[in-house]
Amino acid sequence: MISYQDYLQLLPKTELHCHFVSTMNAATFLELADKHGVDLWGSDPETLFDFADLVDFLVGFRAAHDVLRDPEDFARVAWEGVRDAVAQGNLRYREYYVNPQYFAARGVGYLEVMEPIIAGLRRAERDFGVGFAIIAAINRRDDAASAVEMVRQVIAHPLPEVVGIGQDDLTPENTEDPTRFAAAYELAAAHGLKRTAHVGETDAATSDAVRQAIEVLGCERLDHGYRITDDPAVVELARERGIAFATTPVSTTICSDWALDEAHRIRAMIDAGLMVTVSTDDAMFFRTDLGREYREGLFAMGVDAATAKQIALNGITGAFCDDVRKDRLRAEFRAQFAALDAVLAPAA
Ligand SMILES: [Zn+2]
Repeated sequence: MISYQDYLQLLPKTELHCHFVSTMNAATFLELADKHGVDLWGSDPETLFDFADLVDFLVGFRAAHDVLRDPEDFARVAWEGVRDAVAQGNLRYREYYVNPQYFAARGVGYLEVMEPIIAGLRRAERDFGVGFAIIAAINRRDDAASAVEMVRQVIAHPLPEVVGIGQDDLTPENTEDPTRFAAAYELAAAHGLKRTAHVGETDAATSDAVRQAIEVLGCERLDHGYRITDDPAVVELARERGIAFATTPVSTTICSDWALDEAHRIRAMIDAGLMVTVSTDDAMFFRTDLGREYREGLFAMGVDAATAKQIALNGITGAFCDDVRKDRLRAEFRAQFAALDAVLAPAA
């Protein structure tokens, strides 16, 4: 028999919201910084990731892009990240945010970033059976014209693995302001790209940003979205449209200082019937992993086994892959659920 926490960790999972650089492990991060002579803000792995809040974290996140320069750096991080997530949380499929603008600012071009990442992820798919897709993310620090230019690059260099666009980081005013990038989303939609956006994340964000991302940007999925619970009309809108939410429990304890308990906004979103999925966001920086998000995050929010399995299945429904892959994943998940249900110790 296994405990409920072990059960949560062992459930098969997808991950729809993780940033490529954050799937690095700390040892590789320090090694690559040394290789390229990048001065980090510290060298002690114990304190390197002590961030005060979201803005503080984002400074470190931007700097982390500096250590990835050679094709073998990207490919290595891609492969290791899958290996680690399979071991830590039974990862079966994953979608990655890659920010071409960060690398372009450092003289590394779009294909120089995407091709070695895809090569590393393909190798990991062969070794671990974990499929993947990539979302090209708009960096909100840059202006709207730069976002359109980024989408033009995605369209000019079609790669079957790059299936959509998103937006992350904050504007120079430290706001979300999703509609600032409406033109980039319109262009992406016209070329059949999927759309998502980071909105409604912290106490400084609004439920209106969630509504705008759905109504103005046409997003099929949203990252975070926690402020939605402030407005029942937006909850209704998201339910009607079948919007999936890629939530990240542990990150909210760092970026927003929220407690993981039954009063958490993610629990309220689940109870409101929204299509909630669970991811790590920035595993290295938040010292989390996919297993921990379920084992500690869902557990602390009082989520039961039936709901945890539904959340895992939501992670298939909300994915940007084709129906053949989704059907295969659902069959695999149901078989693993049955095996785990059979060994789950009855509640004490
Ligand atoms: Zn994120």
